[in-house]
Amino acid sequence: MKMEKVKGNTFYIDTGMTYIPFYKINDREIIMLDTGWAEGERKGIDELLEKNNFKVSGIICSHAHVDHVGNNTHLKEKYGCTIAMSAYEALICSSAVNLKLYYNGQTLSEVKEHFGNMICKTDILILSDEDRVKVCDIEFEIIHTPGHSPAHICIVTPDGVAYLGDSLISYEVMEGAKMPYAYILTEDLKSKKKLYDLRCSKYIVAHRGVFDDITKLIDDNVNFYRNRAQKVCDTIKGSMTMEDIMKAVVEDFKIHIGNKYKYTLIERMLKSYLEYLNEKGVIELNIDSGFLKYSKVHCPD
Ligand SMILES: [Zn+2]
Repeated sequence: MKMEKVKGNTFYIDTGMTYIPFYKINDREIIMLDTGWAEGERKGIDELLEKNNFKVSGIICSHAHVDHVGNNTHLKEKYGCTIAMSAYEALICSSAVNLKLYYNGQTLSEVKEHFGNMICKTDILILSDEDRVKVCDIEFEIIHTPGHSPAHICIVTPDGVAYLGDSLISYEVMEGAKMPYAYILTEDLKSKKKLYDLRCSKYIVAHRGVFDDITKLIDDNVNFYRNRAQKVCDTIKGSMTMEDIMKAVVEDFKIHIGNKYKYTLIERMLKSYLEYLNEKGVIELNIDSGFLKYSKVHCPD
């Protein structure tokens, strides 16, 4: 685990899996943009913060996923820091029962076991019509980019560095992603296109990279997700149930499903792609002898 400077007071921690940006208020105090994954990253982050004698005074989270908010409560208990997050994501993280709404494929006990580290108390709720947030007297610009998660945000530091969270993925992630994550794909694609209007000097992508210009990365992300949707569409032959499509996709995409959690995740993603295809008017849903069946109207160009 190491830290790198991006520009001015904006730095990031490279955990090996994720770039976690932070803004230096002074030599000692920092504001972290996301806090990483508890299981795999807490120890390394703790060591790096201690080695540099940093005190976490604030946290602003891009979205409530386990690898982005996993150390919120841990750092809050340790440093007493202020946490800011978009209101909806803050509510998701406010209790195990609320998390259950989001991870509805798992029992409440499983949600507690797998996602318990996400539960945290948020001090500042960022509403969907707010484009700025002040944390520890430092103002950050907020760009609302829903889709990857329901209320994902991008955060611009006072140095004009944009932290894009998971609103874009890097080329290295695209290479390995069989069904890249999007909670609401239609919204996610809109949000990706919204990023064309950003005028920042540097852009940090959580998984993983720092870019001077993201125009081509946006093009390639949009095409990548659209191509995956097209491939999902290609697996639909005649009239199929969700389970039939799941089986076909797992075979065609060569996805290894080793446990029920991976099954639940892939099933959730597949739903998102099917909803996108349905909204595009390329597939239709009909009831056939009491079963919900999906069939092609025509495939997108
Ligand atoms: Zn995410």
